[in-house]
Amino acid sequence: MFGKIHEVYSSISGEGISQGIPTVFIRFAGCSLRCGKTESRALWCDTAYALGPNQGTEKNLDSIWNELESLDPHHGYQVLLTGGEPLEGKNRDLSLSIANKIYQYRTKTGLPYPASRVETNGSERITEDAFFIFTMDYKLPGSGMEDRMDEENFQILEKRHNSLDEIKFVVRDRIDFERSIEVIREKKYTQIYYIRPSTVKWMPKNWSNGSK
Ligand code: SF4
Repeated sequence: MFGKIHEVYSSISGEGISQGIPTVFIRFAGCSLRCGKTESRALWCDTAYALGPNQGTEKNLDSIWNELESLDPHHGYQVLLTGGEPLEGKNRDLSLSIANKIYQYRTKTGLPYPASRVETNGSERITEDAFFIFTMDYKLPGSGMEDRMDEENFQILEKRHNSLDEIKFVVRDRIDFERSIEVIREKKYTQIYYIRPSTVKWMPKNWSNGSK
């Protein structure tokens, strides 16, 4: 089983409730959303370099496990599956296998961070598996991707009732902010939400960040 991997590296988690935790990032390539892109505005994705599946290399579980062991030989780091989109297409099965293997190994040996955090875009169906913790985006109107959100995910998050899961809003403007408040009221999800500004407020369509 193979998925498309853009890069595997270690650093410090930069946002959400895991901010500040040493982390191995597994960045998948490929995402079918195009956040921010409309007729008059350019893509605002901050990982545009990993959007196309051809921007990654095929890797399997053994290869990822070896990279993990070389970056974090004592298994003391959180593992973060990100992208691109780690739950889309072939990447999904590889994400399940990686997280399951880490969970089995770390729970048996009493190591920290047994569950892998998944940063997912809200359009792919999440799962009830204990080996995942979710940072799930809800895409607001400014992204142009709100109609791609999988509404069933809110029920799954509520069933999971995992205090480490979180829902993330990236806000472009006041309309987005007001919509985020509306979603919080509508969905009645009782765990963590966080809201952060988009890094780029507005870009003309011919703007280029050099990566697309
Ligand atoms: S969902 Fe994430 S990876 Fe996909 S286009 Fe949007 S910001 Fe980029």
